[in-house]
Amino acid sequence: MRVVGTKSVWGIGDVGNLEAKQVTVTDAQIIHLSAALDSVLAGESAQVKEYKPSGKTMIFMTMGKKYAAGQIGEWKLWGWVVSYVKGRRLFVDTPRVYVGGKQLRHASM
Ligand SMILES: Cc1cc2nc3c(=O)[nH]c(=O)nc-3n(C[C@H](O)[C@H](O)[C@H](O)COP(=O)(O)OP(=O)(O)OC[C@H]3O[C@@H](n4cnc5c(N)ncnc54)[C@H](O)[C@@H]3O)c2cc1C
Repeated sequence: MRVVGTKSVWGIGDVGNLEAKQVTVTDAQIIHLSAALDSVLAGESAQVKEYKPSGKTMIFMTMGKKYAAGQIGEWKLWGWVVSYVKGRRLFVDTPRVYVGGKQLRHASM
C-alpha cells in the first residue's frame, strides 16, 4: 500500500493496483493500513506486514429494488438476499458512520 519509491505516501481503494477497484475490498485494506500506520508512527516500520489480497470474488449487482444477483467466492447468491442487503437502499444510509470512521463498509452484513 505504500507508494513505490516513497516512505510516507500510502494509497488504498481505487487508487491502488492490488485488487479489483471495488468498495467490497476496502474494509480489509483499511484495517491493514491502520495497523501499518500505527507501526510506522510508533517508529516500528519493520513490523509492517505485506498486504495479502483475499482474491475472493465478491460482487452484488442490483436492478431496481427487486431484482439482483451476486457472488461471493464460488457461491452464487440468491437474488432476494442481494436485494435485501443492497437493493433497498444502495448503502446510501451508511456513509456518515463509514466516512466518520465509526463503522466499516460491511459492518451491517
Ligand atoms: C457506477 C459504479 C458502480 C459501482 N458499483 C460497485 C459495486 O456494486 N460494488 C463495489 O464493490 N464497488 C462498486 N463500484 C466501485 C466503488 O464505487 C469504488 O471502488 C469505490 O468508491 C472506491 O473508493 P475510493 O475511496 O478509493 O475512491 P472514490 O470513492 O472515488 O473516492 C475518491 C474521492 O476523492 C475525491 N477527489 C478526487 N480528486 C481529488 C482531489 N484532487 N482533491 C480532493 N479530492 C479529490 C473524489 O471526489 C472522491 O470523492 C462502483 C463504481 C461505479 C462508478
